[in-house]
Amino acid sequence: MSVSRRDEVLTLAERAKGFMPHNEGLALFSFALELGERIPSSTWLEVGAWCGKSALYLGAAAEATQSVLYSLDHHHGSDENQEGWEHFDATLVDPRDGRLNTLPTWQGTIADARLEETVIGLVGHSAVVARHFHQPLELVFIDGGHGHDVAWGDFRAWSPKVVSGGALLVHDVFPHPEDGGRAPYEIYLKALESGEFVEVASEGSLRALRRVR
Ligand code: SAH
Ligand code: MG
Repeated sequence: MSVSRRDEVLTLAERAKGFMPHNEGLALFSFALELGERIPSSTWLEVGAWCGKSALYLGAAAEATQSVLYSLDHHHGSDENQEGWEHFDATLVDPRDGRLNTLPTWQGTIADARLEETVIGLVGHSAVVARHFHQPLELVFIDGGHGHDVAWGDFRAWSPKVVSGGALLVHDVFPHPEDGGRAPYEIYLKALESGEFVEVASEGSLRALRRVR
């Protein structure tokens, strides 16, 4: 990957609509790039696509290493994105049914970055897709719903699919309750306690783990 192509995608990522701080996105990119260089042509999946911001950071690394990223979301937002909550964005409401729909924005984000042959949208509920998804994954990024049941469901469904030597990344890990919700922190702790994963990098609320058994 040329430096200009990398900078092009990372600049678009920085400007994209979403909640990933740029420093954490760059860490996501660097970590995924290192993984893809270690295991080229690998298959990655993110739970929680929103408008495609994290998919650009991961997608830049995937393109550079001939890997592919599945970007999974039902595209109707999490609880905290709904009207009356902290992260509501009225411009994302579909007038047809009054529900959030981030799919058109996601699609535009991926197209503008010319990543359509690297980032593949999976539109559906995480638990349903996971039940029918049997391909081993070299990288899983968990950034979907942050409620207790949804986050634990994502962890239980997707972390077993990570191959030995592969990466499990978790976003919005806040050790201190005043900084944010508990569930991502709990699943991060559970992964470490299991002895199956070790921590290899962190930046802000992003944690990168590697499967060791
Ligand atoms: N990773 C994105 C942000 C994701 S926000 C970024 O950094 O740019 C969390 C997303 O998870 C929302 O878009 C929401 O629709 C999705 N989500 C929540 N629960 C889900 C579920 N059960 N199945 C699929 N997607 C879900
Ligand atoms: Mg997040």
